[in-house]
Amino acid sequence: MKSINKAVEISAHTMRNVLKRNSIRFAAALLVALASFVAVPNATFAAGPQHHDQVPGFYRLKVGDLEVGYTPEEVDVVLVTHLHSDHIGGLTTQDGKIVFPNAEIDVAKADSDFWLSPEIAAKAPKDAQPFFQSAQAIAAPYIKAGKWHTFSGSEPIVDGMQVVPLPGHTPGHTGYEFSSKGQQILFWGDIVHAQRVQLQHPEVTAIFDIDQTAAAATRHQLLSKLAREGVLIATPHSSLFPVLGRLREERSGYSWVPVVFTDQWDER
Ligand SMILES: [Zn+2]
Repeated sequence: MKSINKAVEISAHTMRNVLKRNSIRFAAALLVALASFVAVPNATFAAGPQHHDQVPGFYRLKVGDLEVGYTPEEVDVVLVTHLHSDHIGGLTTQDGKIVFPNAEIDVAKADSDFWLSPEIAAKAPKDAQPFFQSAQAIAAPYIKAGKWHTFSGSEPIVDGMQVVPLPGHTPGHTGYEFSSKGQQILFWGDIVHAQRVQLQHPEVTAIFDIDQTAAAATRHQLLSKLAREGVLIATPHSSLFPVLGRLREERSGYSWVPVVFTDQWDER
């Protein structure tokens, strides 16, 4: 295992979990490329073009001693929650090139075996074929470069983190929890797709859940634990910014308590 020191970076639209490690620093990051091109709708407005992009696109915070700020070249570990393209699409460019040239990719064996299997893909319904195709295309350059690694069980991959198997949504769906100075943050992948519905009714499943029964059971169990322990959660598929919060148990289900946005770096 590697020693860790620092860092957690969170973006509004989570695409992948990125973990930086080396002897002096360590980062978990959720990143996404935001379109920067802005069209000018009418020549009349050329002098003062409208800006249709949103700012900010990411939010930084400290969790204990974990902190951020890294370029793709500086990232040396990427932890994958599962192989749906909206979570791993940022690993490669549009033309299939590696985005993180110095990173090793870690993914649960059950997910890798499932999505990268030509046999399973061949038997899958037509609607599901694109999921297999995108996973295989995104993984290919990393496999070719010998940078694609799988793990089984819940052995930590680096110091200060815990692998949290959360099967159901996909066979090897995995969360990653990082701890520092008594604080924790969990990157939970696709435990919740529709916050308003599934926090009230954890039994409601999404069409994308491969094993609906297991997905519901995993969600039930996890939500209860997280609410009890007050763990900070990084969630994709949320309309709230920043996409960080905690769960509070209510008479029926749970409510989401978001992290309050501040433009000040909190050194506490
Ligand atoms: Zn998914």
